[in-house]
Formats: sequence, structure tokens, C-alpha cells
Amino acid sequence: VTEKSAIFIIFGGSGDLAHRKLYPSLFRLYKSGILKDHFAVIGTARRPWSDDYFRETVITSLKDYFDDSEDIMKGFAKHFFYQSHDVNDSEHYIALKNLAAKLDDQFEAGHNRVYYMAIAPRFFGTVAEHINSEGLKTEDGYNRLVIEKPFGRDLDSACELNGNISKAFPEDDIYRIDHYLGKEMIQDIPHIRANNPKLEAAMNNKYVSNIQITLAESLGVEDRGGYYETAGVLRDMVQNHIMQIIGAIASDDPEATDAKIIHKNKTDLFSSLKELTPEGVDDDFVRGQYDTDQLGEEKAYRQEDNVAEDSNIETFVAGNIQFDTERWSGVPFYVRSGKRMPEKSSRIDIVFNDKVDEVGIKPNTVITLLIERVNGNSILINGINYKESGQDFISFPEEAEFDKAREAYESLIIDILSGNRVHFTLWDELRSTWKYIDTIRNRWDEQTPDFPNYLSGSMGPDAAEILLERNGNSWVWDD
Ligand code: NAD
Repeated sequence: VTEKSAIFIIFGGSGDLAHRKLYPSLFRLYKSGILKDHFAVIGTARRPWSDDYFRETVITSLKDYFDDSEDIMKGFAKHFFYQSHDVNDSEHYIALKNLAAKLDDQFEAGHNRVYYMAIAPRFFGTVAEHINSEGLKTEDGYNRLVIEKPFGRDLDSACELNGNISKAFPEDDIYRIDHYLGKEMIQDIPHIRANNPKLEAAMNNKYVSNIQITLAESLGVEDRGGYYETAGVLRDMVQNHIMQIIGAIASDDPEATDAKIIHKNKTDLFSSLKELTPEGVDDDFVRGQYDTDQLGEEKAYRQEDNVAEDSNIETFVAGNIQFDTERWSGVPFYVRSGKRMPEKSSRIDIVFNDKVDEVGIKPNTVITLLIERVNGNSILINGINYKESGQDFISFPEEAEFDKAREAYESLIIDILSGNRVHFTLWDELRSTWKYIDTIRNRWDEQTPDFPNYLSGSMGPDAAEILLERNGNSWVWDD
């Protein structure tokens, strides 16, 4: 392990994301020695906390995830400092700058800065601009800006946000988080393709019948109704996570290792999204909103806290996304995401056609990549563990390698500290995906849906099944 050095400034340091994801990930890096002596974390938020109180909150949340000794946790928390901060107050940025400089001397952090926006999206632009205008950036280290989701709520607002942050930071220093890109399976996909020539020979419109991506949750909106009312699953899951998963599975040239080439391949893919017309939306996309369950016990979406009684926000989406590329033209990418589905499931199903034996794969084989491991399994062939599948055309990383699996945020923070932008999203990719999503959103906003239209605990509205049946296909994952 090579130790990394940096001062982290976490905007929103008292928030949910910081305590549930960032501090546990930093602690794992601390235990593995990637963060050791030469780092400090400044948490900022509005409340006037002392360093000691801040450290206590950090240790308290670590205890939810780890059973390490109090001493180790305290040793880690000694690197934590608190600065109360209002995003619009210039003087607070000067105070932050001075504290960062002082801690940089104390911990010999190499003048490196990670500015992490774990704060409401409406503040991203303002904070980035102040970091720049109040001179927080250092001269002889790096200055990296990390942006959480959501990156805009449509193409216009994403453009505006991007305009604001790019006035303050060059694109090469901007790390837009899509935490699915930190997940082990998504990172393994290019290696799986590159290391299995038969599989790669079959990854095109000659042999693939369709590809299915499902991100299903069994929970409802829980206590996030207020946020959800401004989003909906199309914005919350499809524009970012599902599109990025398609990027991993469908980009050309999986052997590429250079970040610029990988991003160019992904940008090319997204810019060849098949043009959607408003009428095409009616044919190719289905939306739904959950009702109570069969027994009438669960709350319908419209009964959730902070949700309008006549809300038209969708909690389910299914669609057929297509690309105009030589490799993929004519192949449906069926995508689906919803709340209150029968169980939590995140998976990619690659369905081959009956001609695929031309490249040595049994006709109609289905390969399933489970994005979150289930019972130790990551990869299924025709529904069973690939090792027992009887097909020898393919080899996947040994399970042992999966055992080293890092949490998505841990892996992404290592990338940020290493200056590796492969697993982050670039502006050009977002522009293409937002443009596509806007066409769907605008069409839907013109029409009044017949909601609620699926029972909690079901696979969504019937139209989601019909979407595939129309082309003689069906969902691989079906209850
Ligand atoms: P949160 O409401 O729990 O925390 C927000 C933080 O911002 C708090 O520390 C608060 O003190 C601070 N803050 C609010 N107004 C401020 C102001 N005027 N000046 C300075 N500080 C201010 O929110 P969260 O759930 O932690 O989310 C933070 C960001 O991460 C959001 O952009 C969210 O979309 C994104 N995100 C969160 C999650 C998650 O699981 N919580 C997942 C993905 C993305």
C-alpha cells in the first residue's frame, strides 16, 4: 500500500451521506494504511460544533459498521476537525482556507485538497465558485472537486450547474460521483469482456437478442418522500446509474485502460443513443406508481409522508433503449427500475440468440451479472452458478478476487486520491443522457398517468411485460 496525503474538506460534514458512507470508507482506508499520518478531514456544516463533538459523531457512526477497538477509532478521529460554515459567507471560506493550511503543515499533507460536496445540490455551484474566488486552492498540490448526485434535474439545469463549476475548476479536476461506477461488478465488466474472446465475439447485434438491466428495490420511498417528489425514478436511477451500467456493458474496446480512451468510447456510445420522438416514448417507455399491497397493508405512494395525494411522480420505469452503432443497432436494452418490487435485485442479463453457437456458445444462453452478490454468487449462466453451468467457453475472475471487494465509496475515494478519473462521469456523457431523458420526461409531463397502477410487491404494471412480449422477448428476472 502506498500512503496517500491530502486535506479533505467535506461540505455537509454533519449530514447523512458523510456519516453513512464517507466516514466509514475513510476509516477502511485508514485501517488499510492508504490513509495513515498525512491526512486530515475538515467537516463543515452550519451548526456550531466543537472538534470533540464532531469526532464523537464520527465514532458513533463508525460503531454502526465496525467492531474495532475504541482506540483505533479515536486514533482515526484525531484527524478530524470541524469548521462551521455557511455556503454564502465569504469569511467562512477564508477561515476554512486558514484551517486547511494549518492542518497541512501539521500533518504534512503535501498541499493536496479534496473538496467534497456532500451538501444539497443547489449549493454545488456556489461552493465551487467560492473555493475559487476566496483562494482556497493551493499552488503546489492538487485541488480536486467531488460532486455528488444529482447532477441537475434536466439538461438545462445540468448545463447551468456545469457552467458554474467549470468556471471554478478545470474538467480534469472534477470528479462527478456515480457510485455504481465504484461497484466491483461494474468495474469488472470490461475485464470479463477483454479476457473472454468468445464472449466478446458474441457481444454484438449478430448474437445478442437483448440486454436487460434491472435495479429493483423492495422498499418504498421511506422518509425521502419530499426529495422523491422532485425526482422520480427516471431522473433518480435511469439518467445516471442505468445509463452508466449500459456504458460499462456496451462500450467498444473493453481492453482500453487509458481514462481518455475509455471516456471517449462511452461518450461515443451515448451520443449514438437512438433518437426518441415524443410518440416513441409512448411505445418504448412505461411508468408506474405503487399502490398498497395485495393485503392492503402497505402505504401507497400517494399516502407516504410529504407526498401529494394526487402525485404523478413515477416510482417504476421500464423502457427499451436503443443505439445507432454498428455493434448494437437493433438490439433492445431493456431497462427497469422500481420501488416496492418483490425483492431487492440489481442485475444485468445478456440474452443471446440461437445463432450464437457460431462462436461456440450454446444457443439462447443467458449470462447474468449480479451487481450485488447474492449467496456468494456474482455470475450465473442460464440461472445457475457459472462454474456449474457446463459451458466452458468462458472464465470469470475467481470468487477469491471478489472477496477483496471494496465498498463503492472506498474504491472511488482511492481513485480520487490517485487522480484516476476512469470511474467518474464526464460532462459530455451527461449531456447526451440528459437530452434523452428530457424527451421522456417532457412527454410524460404532457399526459396524465393512470396512477397508482401496480401493487406493492409486484413486478410493476403489466405494460412492462407487454413491452418485451411485443418483440417476442420476456424479462429473465420475473417473479
Ligand atoms: P443531509 O441533509 O443529511 O446533509 C446536508 C448537509 O449540508 C448537512 O451537513 C447540513 O448541515 C449542510 N448544510 C445545509 N445547508 C447548509 C448551508 N446553507 N451552509 C452550509 N452547510 C449546509 O443530506 P445528505 O443526504 O447527506 O446528502 C448530501 C448530498 O449527497 C446531496 O447532494 C445528496 O443528493 C447526495 N447524496 C446523498 C445520498 C445519501 O445516501 N444520503 C446518496 C447519494 C447522493
